[in-house]
Amino acid sequence: MAIEQLATDILDGAALRADFPVFDRAHRSGQPLTFLDSAASAPKPRAVIEAVADAYGHHYANVHRGIYELSEDATARFEAARKAVAGFIGAPSDREVVFVRNATEGINLVAYSWGRTNIGPGDLILSTEMEHHANLVPWQQLAAESGATIEYVGITDDGHLDLDDLQLKLARGPRLLAVGHVSNALGTINPIEEISAMAHAAGAIVVLDAAQSVPHMPVDVVRLGIDFLALSGHKMLGPSGIGALWGRRELLEAMPPFMTGGSMISKVTLAGTTWAEVPLKFEAGTPAIAEAIGLHAAIDYLDAIGMENVRAHERFLFQHAWDALSAAPGVRLLGPASPDEHAAVISFVLDGVHPHDVATVFDGHGVAVRAGHHCAQPVMARYDLPATTRASFYVYNGLEDVERLLAAIRATRTLFGVG
Ligand code: PLP
Repeated sequence: MAIEQLATDILDGAALRADFPVFDRAHRSGQPLTFLDSAASAPKPRAVIEAVADAYGHHYANVHRGIYELSEDATARFEAARKAVAGFIGAPSDREVVFVRNATEGINLVAYSWGRTNIGPGDLILSTEMEHHANLVPWQQLAAESGATIEYVGITDDGHLDLDDLQLKLARGPRLLAVGHVSNALGTINPIEEISAMAHAAGAIVVLDAAQSVPHMPVDVVRLGIDFLALSGHKMLGPSGIGALWGRRELLEAMPPFMTGGSMISKVTLAGTTWAEVPLKFEAGTPAIAEAIGLHAAIDYLDAIGMENVRAHERFLFQHAWDALSAAPGVRLLGPASPDEHAAVISFVLDGVHPHDVATVFDGHGVAVRAGHHCAQPVMARYDLPATTRASFYVYNGLEDVERLLAAIRATRTLFGVG
């Protein structure tokens, strides 16, 4: 997108804010709430809250088992949610979408089921220094238990994945590459099509942590050329407690169950058990029924806006925020400068003030940001930082939020005598 196209925004964040009841509540600062922590978890629009209430109120029974109208109704709505997830990420079939609690559980499912079947002593697993712990610790565990080796692709000084390092490490024949689409700690958007092609040429499968991309940009699993994708509903305006794992069907079919019990069986005798078809093979026990229906409502809400528009809006806000923060004294920014390579997640350090103090002072001005290591301690270690402050934007944000972020920075520097 040319820079001059950035002169106008595509969405009216302030108008969309009216759809989110949380913005009606009074903040203790007496200021309106500037919510810049959507990368952690996003507020819910009324449509999602009402869909969950309606599911519990009028359509609730257990799914996949009742031979009565209410259960058939609940099952149809639950399965419609699965179709909606499949459509949203371009999955060839809804049978490839497994409901899980969150991205963390989706990645663990792959690490336990695919990993413990396919990884053995002497094998190499690749992850990256940029990962959220959710896409790092399960692979460390797998390596420790299987006798495999794990290595990490490095990050450049300006916050890109080091593709030369990736190429070198791929030459050693890893079985799997676990990589994030968008870094929650740096905001970097990784070139996944290119990375997948490189990994496949080296014989590795690709597990994509899409927790920070699916909520914010169009994502198509086929175009990306990946093998598995994990997402969390709560980061994309949906309820917590529901997420999805997508996997290529032949991989899912060859994998053993992750958890066992009710719902995931075909036949049980005292002599042994056979499994249900995918995806039910991976959905032991009663699932998060109303939450899946709420996720469907979140997808409908985002689809009505259009994911291209969501991305364009966030790109616009990123560009303005990045330019303003770059010009602000005492602010050190992390991650790539190009809006093509950086999602609307801005990690920064305010010289002379600890990020926890920054977040506390910001809160006094009604500005909610995240401070800490963002569950990405290796990223902090890479830049020799204990923590950063992170401002992350979504559909309900606008330029007024960028202004209030800047005002909070100025106030913090004045308060700490560093401005
Ligand atoms: N991956 C990334 C990049 C994240 O930002 C997060 C959450 O912040 C996760 C994975 C884990 O998400 P969840 O806690 O919903 O499983």
